[in-house]
Amino acid sequence: MRRCDRCGREAIIYIRNKREALCESCLFLSIRRRAYSVLRRDLSDGDFAVVALSGGKDSSLSLILTKEFVEREGIDVRVAALTVDEGTSYRRASIEMAMKLTSQLGVEHRIVRMKEFHGFSIEEIREKKLPNERRTACTYCGVLRRQMINTIAREWGATKVVTGHNLDDLVQTFVMNLTRGDVSALSRFLSREPPSSSLVQRVRPLMYVYEKEVAAYCIAAGIPAHVGKCPLTQGMRIGIRRALDNMELRNPGFKLNLLKSAEKMISASRARLSEGIELRKCEICGEPTTERVCKACQLKAEIMKVIER
Ligand SMILES: [Zn+2]
Ligand SMILES: [Zn+2]
Repeated sequence: MRRCDRCGREAIIYIRNKREALCESCLFLSIRRRAYSVLRRDLSDGDFAVVALSGGKDSSLSLILTKEFVEREGIDVRVAALTVDEGTSYRRASIEMAMKLTSQLGVEHRIVRMKEFHGFSIEEIREKKLPNERRTACTYCGVLRRQMINTIAREWGATKVVTGHNLDDLVQTFVMNLTRGDVSALSRFLSREPPSSSLVQRVRPLMYVYEKEVAAYCIAAGIPAHVGKCPLTQGMRIGIRRALDNMELRNPGFKLNLLKSAEKMISASRARLSEGIELRKCEICGEPTTERVCKACQLKAEIMKVIER
């Protein structure tokens, strides 16, 4: 049995980039230190923080740390949780986990069904042949869920939306946007000032924490959370995830270095990157978009064609 390099207790993880084995409590302290530095920077008195809680390990830990941070620091921030029910069978179990966690923590919790908000669930489109073959159910789910969370949180009065995105997620997104040449997305990457007042500022307490660390901690601590990825994940993200995992394996710390460089580069050139990119209101739903009709409405129109058939 390997011992914790800090305290000698039984280790549950070996952090390759730091060459350090850690036990459950030392791992938690290390995660907490990184999460608190983000929360300290991004939350302040008077904020209403809505945590986008899927019931998965990442958002569950994000909620736990945010609640704990607010109580310990004694700052005047209201914390609540918002769960989107996409209507897939995979989500059923994680929604139950989310309910268990919020009742344990005594956190106000809203669950909103995608079917009620958008008029259809992801389950309904999963089996259908979608008109755009380059898109997967994952694209529809991601875009439509993101829009729901922003709109509902904003109407609820939220000043911040806290997400569970970890270091691995963010590096994948950065590389995906680079590969696609999506300059508009790159200019907004990790921006702390939303480009429109209708977009609620994001807070990502786990942005400097590896996915592996979150998983090891949640399992060891018995946090009621779903561990594992959505089985519907497809497309480019899978290939990029594999390639990045491979790089990390050969060069421990690769992902963290990449994220830090991306942050530096983008924050230094944000103004140049966003030059000429204009945000306007979507002609259909009124949400901010760089196009005439927002991505969510474009995807919804595609889905409606398939469902009505
Ligand atoms: Zn220890
Ligand atoms: Zn729209």
